[in-house]
Amino acid sequence: MEEEDEAMVMEVEEIQEEEERAPKEKEPPKIRRLAESVVNRIAAGEVIQRPVSAVKELVENSLDAGSSSINVVVKDGGLKLIQVSDDGHGIRYEDLPILCERHTTSKLSTFEDLQSIKSMGFRGEALASMTYVGHVTVTTITKGQLHGYRASYKDGVLEHEPKACAAVKGTQIMVENLFYNMAARRKTLQNSADDYPKIVDLLSRFAIHHTHVSFSCRKHGAARADVHSVGVPSRIDAIRSVYGVSVAQNLMNIEASDDDPSSSIFKMDGLISNFNFVAKKITMVLFINDRLVEWTALKRSLEVVYSATLPKASKPFIYMSITLPAEHVDVNVHPTKREVSILNQEIIIEKIQSVVETKLRNSNDTRTFQEQTIEPSSSCQVSSRKDSDLNPSPSGSKPMKVPVHKMVRTDSSDPTGRLHAYMQAKPQNHLDGGSSLTAVRSSVRQRRNPKETADLTSIQDLIDEIDRKCHSGLLDIVRHCTYIGMADDVFVLLQHDTHLYLANVVHLSKELMYQQVLRRFAHFNAIQLSDPAPLKDLLLLALKEDDLDPEYEENDELKEKIAEMNTDLLKQKAEMLEEYFCIHIDTHGNLARLPVVLDQYTPDMDRVPEFALCLGNDVNWENEKNCFQEIAASLGNFYAMHPPMLPNPSGDGLKLYEKKRPFKNTEDREYTSGYDATRETEIEHELLSEAETAWAQREWSIQHVLFPAMRLFLKPPTSMATNGTFVRVASLEKLYRIFERC
Ligand code: ADP
Ligand code: MG
Repeated sequence: MEEEDEAMVMEVEEIQEEEERAPKEKEPPKIRRLAESVVNRIAAGEVIQRPVSAVKELVENSLDAGSSSINVVVKDGGLKLIQVSDDGHGIRYEDLPILCERHTTSKLSTFEDLQSIKSMGFRGEALASMTYVGHVTVTTITKGQLHGYRASYKDGVLEHEPKACAAVKGTQIMVENLFYNMAARRKTLQNSADDYPKIVDLLSRFAIHHTHVSFSCRKHGAARADVHSVGVPSRIDAIRSVYGVSVAQNLMNIEASDDDPSSSIFKMDGLISNFNFVAKKITMVLFINDRLVEWTALKRSLEVVYSATLPKASKPFIYMSITLPAEHVDVNVHPTKREVSILNQEIIIEKIQSVVETKLRNSNDTRTFQEQTIEPSSSCQVSSRKDSDLNPSPSGSKPMKVPVHKMVRTDSSDPTGRLHAYMQAKPQNHLDGGSSLTAVRSSVRQRRNPKETADLTSIQDLIDEIDRKCHSGLLDIVRHCTYIGMADDVFVLLQHDTHLYLANVVHLSKELMYQQVLRRFAHFNAIQLSDPAPLKDLLLLALKEDDLDPEYEENDELKEKIAEMNTDLLKQKAEMLEEYFCIHIDTHGNLARLPVVLDQYTPDMDRVPEFALCLGNDVNWENEKNCFQEIAASLGNFYAMHPPMLPNPSGDGLKLYEKKRPFKNTEDREYTSGYDATRETEIEHELLSEAETAWAQREWSIQHVLFPAMRLFLKPPTSMATNGTFVRVASLEKLYRIFERC
């Protein structure tokens, strides 16, 4: 990328006293403005991630245009051609010139409109994005016109004047050669299975919700459509025609609602499969306020109910349509609007979960209920790798000699063998062994009777303390700030009113996680580790990492001892940790489950060892209130959005990955024997891409998970006003004045 000369030089004003900042804080790097074309292409790649995302945007536009018939044609998985035709209201001739500019929309004009938005689109980004990564042609006619117009677009602008042409009612949008200018993306997509099945799946979902609209989807040149719905009034009929009889005949109606402003307001109706329905994987079709979205937390919690009540039919088909007051849903948290953030989500999930559970139990009444053990999960994904000789068993039985910089990995020779590669969020139905069903049951029961556990006064005290210590000025900033971007690895740039602030993401996320742990106390959903991690090994790893002084190397025996004692201690506390914090330690001393503290967020599993050590060392188990507080703080620290362990590959950090022997560390003996040079470079390459992913994912989570959650839940303590968490860097008025003078 070429250097941009018009770098935006920020005059840093009103910098607070140096000592108010975190101690070894780096100077914030200069912020530059990216070239317009680069920005647009980056943004386009975010909104249109793959062909199926383009289809989703186009179909949503057709729905927004009030169409009653929508037909999709796809060639080469969408890479060659995506064509969506509708019979909606069409596009005015005079709007054609700006149709594909970024941020042109007919659906939203003020920010406040966003709170009550009913249409699916609102950002005016989709069509523009497509023109940056593909060739877009629009043919459209509006009511009362004699002929239509055809226009083609490139990089956001019309290629030439719209041409008059014959047209049938509505709009047809054609996207050709998607990602023609993004070689890497195109290549990955070409290598992976094509998107056609995903597109068919998408349209099937739309078809069973928008039953009054007829949908079809076919491959280019094919005579038969793979989805064909005809706009029938009954939902069951629509499901029968799209998903087949075997699904439709095994469905039950389900409803739930709540209308209590102090807890939640929602209405849900849907269809869920019964005990006869057996499938390989769960299908969950969810619409919130008529918007097709993913809500992982809800999906997972329903899977738990099915596993516990109908183990044989534990992969259900679920269709749900939920309506909520528009102001309770933040639809703007995800670049493709795939996920939404919802006020009081826990309460809503709990209510839906309990209605589903009752329904399943009642439907099961006629049959004698048999307890069944659930199949133990068949080991982890990593073990299926071909080079298993390089890849010792992930159970932790291998020797612990690893380079210091990668102390926390289970296998330093293989980046995919890192802890988090096989500690993935898994639904609870993969529990191990016989006691699992009881565990699931009790957790389901607990969720239904929240009062039983949540009346511990010590927790209430801690929550009251959070409220008491809340700083109203900071609260206002947190609630109403705009996220601008990361300024460096730790500080994020924010705007509030006319001021710019740098805010420490690690501090903020740590505090938010801590507060959420207390609020969710005893009511957590679980992150299932697909391969339980032996506590003792985790503790040993952490102890060795702690120990920077090589002179103490011979203390291995002592470390063993400490690790053993801590393991025993935590095993003793297992019941309490499980019940209140959803930290599950099995009888063999393996850590098997962790709590979901923030929906849609899994902590960095590289930090599990450190967390285990904190629990063992830092918690005072004698006093109930202190104990809860310290466990919550340890979880807060673990779940906080620290910079990833791998150095940041953008900028200077890149060198670390380029070198043959990337790490200066000479104890790094693992690399000196047994591997040839080609293997080494390959590893670096993998590490690099792993690091890039980790950093990109973190940034995404900060913007789209942390910030929305912070706005809703964080009560910033007064201490944050002075400990360098927030630093006011400039007032925009002054900046403008400076710019004006230039
Ligand atoms: P958004 O949907 O967020 O407004 P888009 O880029 O998807 O942004 O679309 C821009 C505008 O183009 C829409 O606001 C709408 O006015 C118009 N438009 C797009 N597709 C259609 C269609 N199929 N029928 C009618 N109008 C459309
Ligand atoms: Mg749109």
